[in-house]
Amino acid sequence: MSRVLFVGLGVMGLPMARHVAASGEFELVVHDVDAGRAAEFVAADPVAAAGSADVVVLMLPGSDVVERVLVGDGLLAAVRAGAVIVDMSSSRPASTVALAERAAARGVGYVDAPVSGGQVKAVSGELSIMVGGAAEAVERVRPLLETMGTTIMPTGPVGSGHAVKALNNLLSAIGIAGAAEVLTTGAKFGLDPKVMLDVINASTGRNQATQVKFEPYVLSGTFDAGFALRLMVKDLRTALEIAEDTATPTPVAHAVVEAAAATLAANQDPGADHTLLARWIAANAGVDLHEATQRAAKGA
Ligand code: NAD
Repeated sequence: MSRVLFVGLGVMGLPMARHVAASGEFELVVHDVDAGRAAEFVAADPVAAAGSADVVVLMLPGSDVVERVLVGDGLLAAVRAGAVIVDMSSSRPASTVALAERAAARGVGYVDAPVSGGQVKAVSGELSIMVGGAAEAVERVRPLLETMGTTIMPTGPVGSGHAVKALNNLLSAIGIAGAAEVLTTGAKFGLDPKVMLDVINASTGRNQATQVKFEPYVLSGTFDAGFALRLMVKDLRTALEIAEDTATPTPVAHAVVEAAAATLAANQDPGADHTLLARWIAANAGVDLHEATQRAAKGA
């Protein structure tokens, strides 16, 4: 039975590690700086456990922490030759490529396998996983990835999974921002946001934000979809970095990243949710979409 060291048991990592454990196919040890998160598993010092691990999974906030854990804390130096490191965090491709080179120099494989689907799909074990890396390393970790996700999509060489992930999240944020602007404009015109949303979801303007996020997390006023605003802004900055590195003009992306950064500046709580971007856009126009929805429901 292969041995897995799983580092990072946050909103996503905890349910993902539960699926690895529940499969019964892996000997699992875990680590999180917040020891309470590891309570239900076999916890271990990551550097001490690395030497006997066949696969090291990282599900950390992003590249800064991945680099600190692998290089600063010495985890990479402790992983044995022949093992594979799988970074499932949404990291920066340039950092991933550099870490993969350091790993390769020690005979350690490196795969980037970021996920999509949010907390809901992490809990159900139905994540979409985009996987960058050498085919042999990807095939070795595929059975492990299949315990956490239903769609495993190879994307190319190491770093490519992280690139697709950042660009996907850019498009997702553009969808939220676009929907927020449209619903806000409609609310100022006098339309009921819920009616507009229903029309849009039956029409060509619909997107994942209008279909999945706006009713339960924006019009409801709860803003608790489970993906932190700080993490979304990090992903958007990664996407802009890719655009800059590839000399791709991205005026729409720049506008959305600016709005998301301003939303973050106004919402510093680390738990603040990414759907607050919609509230910030509406507030700029003096609109509260939750209140407007409630007013319309009361016939006011
Ligand atoms: P999170 O902030 O909830 O979890 C991160 C975990 O890492 C925390 O439990 C934290 O204690 C731990 N951690 C931080 N520093 C550490 C260290 N040095 N050593 C060990 N553990 C450490 O974040 P999350 O929402 O679970 O997201 C994890 C990654 O997945 C991020 O890169 C995020 O962008 C990405 N992601 C999140 C979602 C989502 O909907 N939440 C969806 C897809 C991808």
